[in-house]
Amino acid sequence: MIKNLNTFDLKNKRVLIRVDFNVPLDRGRVTDDFRIRAALPTIDHCLNQGAGVVLMSHLGRPKGKIDKNLSLISVGESLADLLEMPIKFSDDCVSEDARDTSLGISNGEVHLLENLRFHEEETSNNLHFSMLLSKHGDVFINDAFGTAHRAHASNVGIVNHFKQKGIGFLMEKEYRFLKESFDRHKHPVTLILGGAKIDTKLSMIHRFLNKADTILIGGGMAFTFLKAKGKEVGNSLVDDEMINSAHNVIQSAKQCNVNIVLPLDFICAKKIDGKPEGVFSNRDIPLNMMGLDIGPKTISNFKQHIDQSNTILWNGPMGVFENEDFATGSKEIAAKLAEVTEKGATTIVGGGDTAAAIRKFRFQNDVSHVSTGGGASLELLSGEFLPAFKALELS
Ligand code: AMP
Repeated sequence: MIKNLNTFDLKNKRVLIRVDFNVPLDRGRVTDDFRIRAALPTIDHCLNQGAGVVLMSHLGRPKGKIDKNLSLISVGESLADLLEMPIKFSDDCVSEDARDTSLGISNGEVHLLENLRFHEEETSNNLHFSMLLSKHGDVFINDAFGTAHRAHASNVGIVNHFKQKGIGFLMEKEYRFLKESFDRHKHPVTLILGGAKIDTKLSMIHRFLNKADTILIGGGMAFTFLKAKGKEVGNSLVDDEMINSAHNVIQSAKQCNVNIVLPLDFICAKKIDGKPEGVFSNRDIPLNMMGLDIGPKTISNFKQHIDQSNTILWNGPMGVFENEDFATGSKEIAAKLAEVTEKGATTIVGGGDTAAAIRKFRFQNDVSHVSTGGGASLELLSGEFLPAFKALELS
C-alpha cells in the first residue's frame, strides 16, 4: 500500500522530496509559479514537523546536458520568496558538495538541487544515479504528479533505496480528484488537445479512442493532422515524422466512431514573433505564412462541441497564447469551459502551459480541476496505473 505523508514521523529527519518545478520561464524568470505553489503544502508540512527538506526536480528537456537557460536557480528564488526564508542551492544534483550540503542541513532548512535532467541518467532510470540521489535523504516523498507517468531515476529507481517512502499531498489530491471525477464521468466526453509537441499526445489519442466521443485538435499539432489529410499548411509547425502516425490516428478514430475535429481557419503571421497578417481558411494558408492561433470559425465550431459535452478534458493551448495577438483561441476556450462548468459539466484542465494559460485569463477557479500534470493527468484518466505510483506500491 502506498503511504501518505501524514503517516510519517518526520522529526529530525531529512526528507528528500521529488517535486515538479517544471515551470514556464521567460528569459530565465518564472512566469507562472502554479506548480511551485502546489508543492508548498507538502514542503510546509515537513518543515513544521521538524524535518530538513531536500528538493529535486527537472525543468524542460536539456537532454542530459547542462543548459544555463534551464537552471532551477530562478525557481529557487521564487520558492524562497514564497516560503519567506532563504534556501540553499546546489548546482549539481549528485555532486559530493551537494550531498554534504544535504547532510549538513538543520531541521527547518530547505536545500534545492539543480535540474535532474542535466544528467542523462535521470530519464534512463539509471540505478547508480538513483542510488546517488537517495543519499540526500532518510525519507523519500514523491510529490511530482507532472512526471508520474514517467519511469525515471528520481521517481521510480530511487524507491528501492528507501525503507520510508510515500506520496505527498499534491500527488494524493491529484490522484483522488482525477480518479473520482472520471470514474463517474458522463458522456459525451470531449478531449481538447493543442500545443506544439505532438508525439506524446498522439499516443494519448489512441488511449482515448474508447473513452472520448469527440477530439478537438488545435494549436501547432493541428497542422500535422491537416498535412496528413493532404492540406497545404504553408510555413506552419509540422512534425514530418509524425504525419503517418497522425494519418493512422484519423483512421482508427473513424473505426471507433470518435469524431476528430480539426480547425477550419487560423490567424496567421509570417514569423512566430510576427504580427498577425489575417485569417486564412485551412485550405489556403499562403506558403510564407504560419498559423499561430485558431480562427473565429474554429472557435465557434469548438464551442458548439463543448456545449454538447458533459465531460471535457483540455490539454495544450490553441495558439501561441504567450503573445496577446495569438491568445484569443485559448482565452475563448477557457471562457467556454468556465461557462459549461457552471451549468454542471465536469471540466479538467492539465499541463504546464494550459494551466498557465487558464491562470493568465483568470478562469482557474471556474473549472472543475486544474491539474499540475499534462501527460500524467491524461494517462491516469485513460485508465493507466502510473509508474510512479506503481513503484511505491510494489516496493
Ligand atoms: P506543449 O508543451 O506541446 O503543450 O506546447 C505548448 C506551446 O505550444 C506553447 O508555448 C504555445 O506557444 C505553442 N503553440 C501553440 N500553438 C502553436 C502554433 N500554432 N504554432 C507554434 N506553436 C504553438
